[in-house]
Amino acid sequence: MYIEDLRIQVSGHVIAEGEAGFTAAREGFVWNGRKPEATPRVIVQATTVADVQAAVRYAAANGYQASARSSGHNWSGIALQDGVAIDLSALNTVTIDRLKRIAEVGPAAKNLALAIALTAEGLAFPVGHCGDVAMGGYLLGGGFGWNEGTWGPACHLIEKAEVVLADGSVVMVSANDHSDIFWALRGAGPLFFGIVTRYWLRLMPLPPAMAVTTWTYPLARVAEVTASMKRLANVLPSFAEASLSFAAAPPAADMGDAKFATVILTVYGGSMTEITGLARNVGDLVPEGAVVHTPTTPITFAALYGIVDQSFPDGGRYGVDCVWSEDADATFAGLARMVAEAPSVQSNAICVIYGRNSALHRGLPDAALSVIGSVCGIMHGTWTLPEDDAQNLVWLRAGMDALDPVTKGRYVGHADLARPGRIDACYSAEARIRIASLAATYDPQGVFGNHTVRDAAAQGSVALAAE
Ligand SMILES: Cc1cc2nc3c(=O)[nH]c(=O)nc-3n(C[C@H](O)[C@H](O)[C@H](O)COP(=O)(O)OP(=O)(O)OC[C@H]3O[C@@H](n4cnc5c(N)ncnc54)[C@H](O)[C@@H]3O)c2cc1C
Repeated sequence: MYIEDLRIQVSGHVIAEGEAGFTAAREGFVWNGRKPEATPRVIVQATTVADVQAAVRYAAANGYQASARSSGHNWSGIALQDGVAIDLSALNTVTIDRLKRIAEVGPAAKNLALAIALTAEGLAFPVGHCGDVAMGGYLLGGGFGWNEGTWGPACHLIEKAEVVLADGSVVMVSANDHSDIFWALRGAGPLFFGIVTRYWLRLMPLPPAMAVTTWTYPLARVAEVTASMKRLANVLPSFAEASLSFAAAPPAADMGDAKFATVILTVYGGSMTEITGLARNVGDLVPEGAVVHTPTTPITFAALYGIVDQSFPDGGRYGVDCVWSEDADATFAGLARMVAEAPSVQSNAICVIYGRNSALHRGLPDAALSVIGSVCGIMHGTWTLPEDDAQNLVWLRAGMDALDPVTKGRYVGHADLARPGRIDACYSAEARIRIASLAATYDPQGVFGNHTVRDAAAQGSVALAAE
């Protein structure tokens, strides 16, 4: 199949390497300011499912790999591969059936857009914590989002999905149709052996009230704060999330480079009265002497994004890794130490304990998303200059290595996938074998399956620019 045939079949854009617009399309493929080295032969900006099918057939016919991009937010930039890079950005529609409580969404529909559309209908979904991330990669990895303690991982609210397979055919997958592909769709992430072109998502009623309360301490008090997080994990209801952030104060606070530990209580409740009462009780369980306490403030999903997205500016250079653990003391102390010693003052960490009332504490339904811990720690290395890449990556990787003794696995959405073995740590051994076996069945030629991470696991290295 020649590229001219592809151009005729595709209603979107086909940009071959060296053509006008190629460099910009390649740069834009990955959101992280730190771009991977991969250079596709062709970038297909798809506008229809038929475009995706044509691009996959073209890749298969020419022995190229095909990789999809929904919003390019994977921290390791793995959506960009050599071969045929398929940009799904235009497949971003959101259609809501309020009576059936189902949303039909394109893979490039973003958290913020979906949350706003659902709020208007009095509905909700466990959308992820940053507004600009698309459903495609988020759901494929598992999806840990707002009110996950009640709603669980987002991938388990997928009712059905439309998938383009390696031979260019389209299948509908659900618990009843192609249930093996449906199993993989919920967690295989970059190892998924197809391209999702549409999801049907089960929706939840919008919580009648939502509010945020925070308590901020000097980072040196991390041990006390961790002890209070453990107490909270035992008593908080599923609809109340306490997360712990380690970061410098925002520049507007004019507090220099000093680092702080902030307990963030987000509650999705029945009423503000209920939430205020709960926050008061939490106030009795966190350490005394907070340097800053923001009182309980009503909030919407859109406003939550306005706050969180400030920590992840466009154009920033990111190196991110994460752990699932059962040891909050060691994990939080290690991440706090990393933030204290970070070469960049912008770097920050977020920690959560899934308490005994959380849906995530009760384990995971059978799916490719197969590893979790009751303790989650994510380190966001964040800096601005290319010449600082090496120093920040050395810091990130040494700090995460120090947590190995208490690490029981990783989440594929946040793992440092350029590192050998990282992808394997994201699945149980059984699930990893099953994903590989399904990939061999549905994609024997290896058109998908993300060669970067597969080769990193096999060979032990992946080059990211300026490493
Ligand atoms: C700022 C920020 C905040 C985040 N917050 C959260 C969070 O709160 N919760 C959470 O769970 N995760 C979070 N993540 C992680 C994020 O969900 C994953 O990195 C996810 O892969 C990003 O989705 P994407 O569609 O942009 O993926 P991309 O970068 O576009 O692609 C990632 C991988 O998935 C494949 N892929 C993408 N779309 C498709 C598709 N439609 N069909 C088949 N394969 C596809 C790509 O080929 C690639 O291998 C966050 C990431 C960032 C950058």
